[in-house]
Amino acid sequence: MAKVFVLVEHRQGSIREATFECVTLARELHASAGLEPAAVVVGSGVAAFADTIAAYLPETIVVDDPALERFRYETHAAALRDLIEREAPLLVLAPHSAFGMELVPRLSAELGRPCATDCVEVAMAEGGLSAVRSVYNGKILERLAFAPAGGYFATVRSGSYAPAATAGAGSIRAHACPAMPATPRTEHRGYRETAAGEVDITQAPMLLAIGRGIKDVENVPKAQALADRLGAVLACSRPVVDKKWLGKERQVGTSGRTVKPKVYIAFGISGAFQHLAGVKSPGVFIAVNRDPKAPVFRAADFGVVEDMFKIMDALAEKLGAK
Ligand SMILES: Cc1cc2nc3c(=O)[nH]c(=O)nc-3n(C[C@H](O)[C@H](O)[C@H](O)COP(=O)(O)OP(=O)(O)OC[C@H]3O[C@@H](n4cnc5c(N)ncnc54)[C@H](O)[C@@H]3O)c2cc1C
Repeated sequence: MAKVFVLVEHRQGSIREATFECVTLARELHASAGLEPAAVVVGSGVAAFADTIAAYLPETIVVDDPALERFRYETHAAALRDLIEREAPLLVLAPHSAFGMELVPRLSAELGRPCATDCVEVAMAEGGLSAVRSVYNGKILERLAFAPAGGYFATVRSGSYAPAATAGAGSIRAHACPAMPATPRTEHRGYRETAAGEVDITQAPMLLAIGRGIKDVENVPKAQALADRLGAVLACSRPVVDKKWLGKERQVGTSGRTVKPKVYIAFGISGAFQHLAGVKSPGVFIAVNRDPKAPVFRAADFGVVEDMFKIMDALAEKLGAK
């Protein structure tokens, strides 16, 4: 029976949530096309991760070796290449994260297996495997058919599938770690947490987030004043941090923080998936954008198509700002 592998992403003691979304997809492929799902855990001292993920899929394969203690392309890829060559899964899934993006396209090239990255959907039909990707900042969905091959890779965009629930105890087996590269060219020196700063946007019940639409650093105090009036914490998209208008601790998104406020108000944010992936089921999502086709409106509960400064001024006036 053809197999689908889910590469388990773990970091600093926990399995990343995106892994459980890949589990859901693997289960769907089992239900629709009979693929046998298996989780693959690579690392050092990863028995606890194997135990955890074994509650989600019928089989877990573990490659455990001290050489795999820190994530490094050369060592992890060596372990995975060996496993994939020996077991020949039809499909290997990984989260579309720094982990998946570093590992999967290079493995695909080295093993000569087609790869689709950043998929929002992967399906198996009569014609073979197909994938859907969102391109042009979410404006278009493209459907890809994989060229016939012995096996495939896909990375899955966070938020595309609901995280799986547990499904009983699966089996766990070890796969021997192959010889590691004698002289790896990269070295993992450790993790460094970004400074938490004075705010913790992950805990705020109400967030007022600004994007590139804020235009100039001179307009940031206006947004801050409105946030203060509303009792909200000021957050932002990545370009605002890149321009150093606000600190990194306020950035929402895949390379920033994941937030789950009761109210999320987005001013001048287009709604790129990297941003929206950081906004997990807010109570109410309000978006203000002058472009009626902005992807943010697909995520928002309430949308205002208008100049954001007009709305900010109107709100400030309503709230009695001087
Ligand atoms: C690996 C990677 C990781 C990333 N991580 C993140 C992340 O964590 N967080 C993140 O946010 N992004 C992230 N990005 C960037 C992301 O792809 C987008 O580029 C970014 O989110 C866009 O920010 P924005 O919406 O503020 O800007 P834009 O996409 O430029 O959108 C600005 C919006 O403002 C609107 N606008 C302009 N003027 C006005 C006005 N006067 N009134 C009303 N509306 C107005 C425009 O119509 C537009 O929709 C990442 C990208 C990569 C490649």
